[in-house]
Amino acid sequence: MIPVARPLIGQEEEEAVLAVLRSGIIAQGPEVERFEAEFAAVCGARYAVAVMNGTIALYLALLAHNIGPGDEVITTPFSFIATANSILMTGATPVFVDIDPHTYNLNTDQIAAAITSRTRAIMPVHLYGQPADMAPIMNLAERHHLAVIEDAAQAIGATYRGQPVGSFGTGCFSLYATKNVTSGEGGMITTNDPAIAYRLRLLRNHGSRVRYYHELLGYNFRMTDLQAAIGRAQLAKCERFTSQRIANAAFLNQTIRHPAVITPQVRPEVRHVFHQYTIRVTTNRDEAIRQLNAAGVGTAIFYPLPIPQQPLYQKLGIEADTPVANQIAREVIALPVHPALSEADLRQIAAAVNALTVTEAVVAG
Ligand SMILES: *Cc1c(COP(=O)(O)O)cnc(C)c1O
Repeated sequence: MIPVARPLIGQEEEEAVLAVLRSGIIAQGPEVERFEAEFAAVCGARYAVAVMNGTIALYLALLAHNIGPGDEVITTPFSFIATANSILMTGATPVFVDIDPHTYNLNTDQIAAAITSRTRAIMPVHLYGQPADMAPIMNLAERHHLAVIEDAAQAIGATYRGQPVGSFGTGCFSLYATKNVTSGEGGMITTNDPAIAYRLRLLRNHGSRVRYYHELLGYNFRMTDLQAAIGRAQLAKCERFTSQRIANAAFLNQTIRHPAVITPQVRPEVRHVFHQYTIRVTTNRDEAIRQLNAAGVGTAIFYPLPIPQQPLYQKLGIEADTPVANQIAREVIALPVHPALSEADLRQIAAAVNALTVTEAVVAG
């Protein structure tokens, strides 16, 4: 079976970890500092702050913007649970706006109607590696004095009108094993605002700048030098990995031809880094997955249940009217697109999709 995701770890990562192990500094130290500087440069941001994982990155970004109980944060229903959960963790309330049916990112036409006197931030997700429509989001944020916290967990290296994601607002990245760049587990927060960067560094480390003096309630959310060493070796390969993902996606887009399958659409103003290559099967997804797996093609569903439909959110009574997200969640299938795929793998994936015998949906209207 061609796996749907596979971390590409090489000799560079192995040697970097060994060097740290032998250095005597294995918790947060100079490797983390170097990783932060390199990461900030890739994102076109002044500062980057390394933390334990992407979920913590989102949580600390919200805390750094003083978001908490009584506040509302506008976000998407169609993402990994950590996006909205980070808002809950602060005591604030997530407010869900439906998604665009072509990009599956926030439908920016619907954001204005969701803004109330309690709204403090907008949290767009650059889903699958395709940047959200940042121009209207930044406009609305400026007009209503809202923070913008980008969930860029899937989108390192992506750009919108030439500008890297993570440099619009406060950017939150994940370095989890299957992400485009990994450190095993890890997270990074990017910002151009020195006050936010300062608060993030305090929050990450027990509210402490000078050892054993504590200015605010902080945590131990630090990254280790072992992870930073892996992350640096990965970051050096990021551009190569990303170009390969984009080329793989282009091949699949050109080669897949099936009346019941919709291939990903890339907006002209973005660089989509294809963390996921997600098709939609407009009829009988379960059967399509069965046939793909039988043909040796690994698949995954990101995400089978929109966040407001999750039992946790139902129990909390957080209401959301997101019919597009509900529909898309029933249709998506992620196919392998990672840089470890061979040309033969890519042909096999496209052929398996083209051979699907699910019947064509009757399109209404
Ligand atoms: C992976 C991911 C996260 C969480 O990152 P972790 O490092 O796994 O905590 C958050 N949001 C999105 C969209 C993700 O894909």
